[in-house]
Amino acid sequence: MKEIKISAPFDMHLHLREGQMLINVLPYTSAVFPRGVVMGNLPIPVDTAEKAIKYKSEILADDVTFNPIMTIMLTRNTTPAIIREAYNHGIKVIKYIPEGVSTNSEYGVPLNKLHEFYEVMETAEELGMILSGHWEAPFNINGNPIEELCREEEAIPFLAAIINCFPKLKIVVEHASTYGMIEYVKNAPNTVAATLTAHHALLDYSDVCDKTGKIIGSDLYCKPIAKKAIDRSAVLQTMISGNPKFFFGSDSAPHYAENKKRTPPAAGIFTAPVVMPLLCEIFDNNNALSKIENFTSRFGPKFYGLPLNEGKITVRREKWTVPYETNGIKIFLGRRELNWKVV
Ligand SMILES: [Zn+2]
Repeated sequence: MKEIKISAPFDMHLHLREGQMLINVLPYTSAVFPRGVVMGNLPIPVDTAEKAIKYKSEILADDVTFNPIMTIMLTRNTTPAIIREAYNHGIKVIKYIPEGVSTNSEYGVPLNKLHEFYEVMETAEELGMILSGHWEAPFNINGNPIEELCREEEAIPFLAAIINCFPKLKIVVEHASTYGMIEYVKNAPNTVAATLTAHHALLDYSDVCDKTGKIIGSDLYCKPIAKKAIDRSAVLQTMISGNPKFFFGSDSAPHYAENKKRTPPAAGIFTAPVVMPLLCEIFDNNNALSKIENFTSRFGPKFYGLPLNEGKITVRREKWTVPYETNGIKIFLGRRELNWKVV
């Protein structure tokens, strides 16, 4: 196949940041993805309808062609009334990120405190909202850090508790990165789905850290961290399997180069400029190009209850070299040659 023409894709997990960074990165997403779920874990979290509306208008001021699906972050201040108010303003997604797990998670509710927010969950369930969560446990019950490779699977019991208590609540497991979590989602009720990233289908832990756990690839450092070969293979095989519970969310997370160079580096990889060509390579290399449209453009909106995007995009088999950086932001796979290009 020389080119594919598919229904315009959705990015169901996206970090656009604010201010100049937003201006710098949004065009890379909006050129390919007309819609995306914009994460509300900013340094000052988007945790009220008012803040979400303000953030939405900032995004639209940069690019009216992009249609952001806004989220409201679950923080220690969240109440059922705040959730209801957000819903009444068209916000259907609650972003959950546990405290201390990744960039801008300082205001998140720890996993072991989630039970204090069950009235919030109840309201979300009643309204038909979606709980989109970063399911990783950074600390054990004694408050000591859990090894990064185990954090996702350690969060499964907390996730299971929510699923059991709120059988009608739609839950998204963001960036499932382990065999164990993927198997869990496959076997969970149909109210539970997961997003998969391109980079977790490509990277191994050994690309990011040495045997002692020291970070050797700061540009590739993200949360959840890239895992073992068995996990990478599970992400890839699930992505191309055609299972509607799994859809695309890039988790494109830009940082300025100086923040990637510090110790420890800022967690996140800026994949938006390359991610659609990269997915084409992954699907093409695995003889699964016919399944890419479902993964990028249909399963996500179906789970969210959204109409498909109008319009199509064309991706062509054409070599190009990825720029190293843009406005001081390192691009994933910079200087590498890719075989597919969005035209
Ligand atoms: Zn994220």
